[in-house]
Amino acid sequence: MRDTVQRREILTFLRSRRQHCSAVQVYDAVREKLPSISLGTVYRNLGHLLEDGEIIAVETSDKCVYYDGFVQDHAHFVCDGCKNIFDFPLKREIAQDVIKAGFSIESEKVVYYGKCADCRSQK
Ligand SMILES: [Zn+2]
Ligand SMILES: [Zn+2]
Repeated sequence: MRDTVQRREILTFLRSRRQHCSAVQVYDAVREKLPSISLGTVYRNLGHLLEDGEIIAVETSDKCVYYDGFVQDHAHFVCDGCKNIFDFPLKREIAQDVIKAGFSIESEKVVYYGKCADCRSQK
């Protein structure tokens, strides 16, 4: 596999921080270790990592995509004011209802959009 080193660096970077990063942020960080990597390679590897369930993507309301190396169940809150993305624990009740109905869940994505507490308190 041609992209193994790149893929590993991207995943290591995303797992090293509890932050949600754009492809360009990933590119800037990984380029410090792999100076010859291209933005296209970063996008391609992010796509593969997503397909393999190694990372998750969160879309903001203006369609910017951020990547998260923490794939354990959590819901996202995207602030339309400061554009920060917040993690919240995911409650299992809905998924349990789905499973009880005899369905199988392949993937799950819970994203809330709105204003965070800081943005709400400043006018
Ligand atoms: Zn905010
Ligand atoms: Zn997250």
